[in-house]
Amino acid sequence: MTINQSGWKPTTPVAGATDTGTVTGNRALMLEEALIFEIGDTQTTGVDIAPADKSTGGIASLLRSDPIGLPGLSEPETVRHYTRLSRQNYAIDLGLFPLGSCTMKHNPRLNEKMARLPGFADIHPLAPRETVQGALELINELAFWLIDLTGMHGVAMSPKAGAHGELCGILCIRAALEARGDARSVVLVPESAHGTNPATAAFAGYKVENIPATPEGRVDLEALKARLGPDVAAVMITNPNTCGLFEPDMKAISDAVHAAGGFVYCDGANFNAIVGKVRPGDLGVDAMHINLHKTFSTPHGGGGPGSGPVVLSEALSPFAPLPYTARTADGVVHLIEEEQADAFAEEHFGGKLQSFGRMTAFHGQMGMFTRALSYILSHGADGLKQVAEDAVLNANYILRSLEDVLDAPFAHSGPCMHEALFSDKGFADGVSTLDLAKALIDEGFHPMTMYFPLVVHGAMLVEPTETESKAALDQFIMALRSVAERCKEGDESLKSAPHHAPRRRLDETLAARKPVVAWKEPVPAAAEAPTPSEVGDR
Ligand SMILES: *Cc1c(COP(=O)(O)O)cnc(C)c1O
Repeated sequence: MTINQSGWKPTTPVAGATDTGTVTGNRALMLEEALIFEIGDTQTTGVDIAPADKSTGGIASLLRSDPIGLPGLSEPETVRHYTRLSRQNYAIDLGLFPLGSCTMKHNPRLNEKMARLPGFADIHPLAPRETVQGALELINELAFWLIDLTGMHGVAMSPKAGAHGELCGILCIRAALEARGDARSVVLVPESAHGTNPATAAFAGYKVENIPATPEGRVDLEALKARLGPDVAAVMITNPNTCGLFEPDMKAISDAVHAAGGFVYCDGANFNAIVGKVRPGDLGVDAMHINLHKTFSTPHGGGGPGSGPVVLSEALSPFAPLPYTARTADGVVHLIEEEQADAFAEEHFGGKLQSFGRMTAFHGQMGMFTRALSYILSHGADGLKQVAEDAVLNANYILRSLEDVLDAPFAHSGPCMHEALFSDKGFADGVSTLDLAKALIDEGFHPMTMYFPLVVHGAMLVEPTETESKAALDQFIMALRSVAERCKEGDESLKSAPHHAPRRRLDETLAARKPVVAWKEPVPAAAEAPTPSEVGDR
């Protein structure tokens, strides 16, 4: 393949970008960009270094003999390539991100500053304990905040995401049941649960059974009670649930589950709606993960690793995974690993640990711990309470501002919590939630969560979060109202939206089923080149 100096090949317009009306594929400041394999070549490099001497030493026999074949560009072209690609992403720093159940909110820059302090950022997990006392103290301090805010007994800090935390909690439950010689095989999960709940239970070896929802979108308490029995290990409940509603029967659910010898797992992904207002420990919860990347504003999605500490009841705490931190009366913070566990527990707590094992190699996501504690300390207890209040206020503002144009199936049952749920009822024939979401992209917004929860037809779950101003909400509402009205009128142009995005309507099923994840050099001429639809429109 021959490439001109600038890397731009005017005779080969970029696939999928041919209808821009410009020869470059660019649309004003929205710049088109091909893959690096298409614009780079193996002969070009941005660095100029002398070839290395032939090594004759130890590993010489392992040296690569054929070229590595990676495409290169000059330095400025490389910078432009990745900058242009990055501009094709939507990000929380560009606009409102209404993804329900995900809590995509502003990441305060103070957190970033704290996480970059060299004393936290530049340490190694294997550094001698006495040299990293400050970092251990930070983990321990965050652990105490999480225990305090949830009214629980202990916390496992190491899980690295919400789903990982769910697994940790269910493994604690399994260990507690095994310790009392109680073989239970079933985990009950409500219909509206996030997909990770049944997946976690199944992964831990349990049979998953559904609990139905009431017409008000809440767990059917009577149906749950009727199913409880000696085979039920645990019930997994999300509270507030994924319909954006608080489960008012939570305490009654916990009491019934405990009376039947089971444990209560609470999916705490929506904790930002109740932080500072409700303590899950008071509701009888035995284990709950907290997504630091949701409630406590640490970056998530493509923005960085998550962190999912799991708070535990007194009954489950002894089974928590190692390592964990503990501060003894002398003020020293210990990182307890397998070797010290029993001796330490005996000396300081007068008991034995029955840890089920480990979740990760080390103690968890230090950078996320630092950001989350920074967020907690900068808000204080009163500020955290306001987080929940503002998250709920913003969601209700969305709900009430749109319920006349979008069907809101549970709006009659009172205010929502932190997210507003709508359905596609009332859309013109042939117009779907997907069409609405695509048209929202043209308006410059990331779509909301679609087709989840499953209990609502064509669901649209909107979570504005507490960090959006009224002006930002009003702009979003204006855009969504306009798109919703077009959906009701049956505007034909919706079917091919988005019209202004870098790519048009993609065949998402094909892209999901047959993703093209590796670039192949195109077959020259008309030979056997795949049609664009066969390659999923990239
Ligand atoms: C986000 C979420 C999860 C999973 O958390 P991850 O950190 O993405 O693994 C589980 N349950 C609910 C309700 C969620 O919103």
